[in-house]
Amino acid sequence: MSNPRAIYQMKVLKIIDHTPIVREVILQCLDPQQSFQFRAGQFAMLHVPQPEGKPALRAYSIASHEAQKDGFTLLFKYVENGKASQFVWSLKGDETLQFTGPFGKVFFQEPPTEQIVFLNTGTGLSQHYSYLISKKEQYPNLKFKMYFGVRTEKDIYYEKELEALKSQLKNFEYHYVLSRPSESWTGKKGYVQHFLKEIDYKNTATTFYLCGNGGMIKEVKNQLIEIDQFPKEKIWSEAFD
Ligand SMILES: Cc1cc2nc3c(=O)[nH]c(=O)nc-3n(C[C@H](O)[C@H](O)[C@H](O)COP(=O)(O)OP(=O)(O)OC[C@H]3O[C@@H](n4cnc5c(N)ncnc54)[C@H](O)[C@@H]3O)c2cc1C
Repeated sequence: MSNPRAIYQMKVLKIIDHTPIVREVILQCLDPQQSFQFRAGQFAMLHVPQPEGKPALRAYSIASHEAQKDGFTLLFKYVENGKASQFVWSLKGDETLQFTGPFGKVFFQEPPTEQIVFLNTGTGLSQHYSYLISKKEQYPNLKFKMYFGVRTEKDIYYEKELEALKSQLKNFEYHYVLSRPSESWTGKKGYVQHFLKEIDYKNTATTFYLCGNGGMIKEVKNQLIEIDQFPKEKIWSEAFD
């Protein structure tokens, strides 16, 4: 594991704008002798430079494969007037950013249950995508189900990446759930928490992973723990707000 007290100088290798408000940034350790080692599910702390005083620190879940030691990938969602958001959207590529980490203890639980359910919103996909790409060779036969909440068709991203996972995993299904789709959208509408009823977690050994919007996480936990008496130790969550 890397040293969480050390400051890592990371070079921006590539920027991919998936939508106007979702930006992927691929980072590499500036010093080839230095390595940033993390486990899937962890996050890094970005040091956002401030005009005066200390940098502002913001957490970002790592979206890449845990076997990679020389860098990592992050998915940023733009927050209006946000300090980190403004900084990240000012990047052009080739800059050096400072990070500490890794932090966090929301790991993929092993040995896994027969069914794994991912519920995420916005860039909450990052943590779940890291689990999937990091564990797919080890657990190719698990039933993986993902419900991925975004607002409109224009907010959909990572379709190509999720399709690639579908072709590699026997039992992986994913669904975009749109809260404000256009009239022509024939897929799932509403919020991810409304689709719990589609999942057979009462008769199949299941672990839930929840990531992103805090309101979504609260509602899902309320349904599962308070109403369905689902064991809370089988629910792992990371709230972004
Ligand atoms: C463990 C952890 C992991 C995280 N991982 C990610 C990640 O992978 N990708 C990612 O994009 N974000 C992630 N976040 C959120 C991230 O740390 C920042 O909070 C977010 O990017 C906003 O920072 P900012 O400096 O741009 O906004 P700030 O300057 O902190 O906030 C500006 C204004 O926006 C409001 N605000 C702050 N956050 C949000 C939000 N998410 N939605 C709506 N309004 C908000 C604030 O209340 C404030 O009024 C994570 C948070 C945690 C705790």
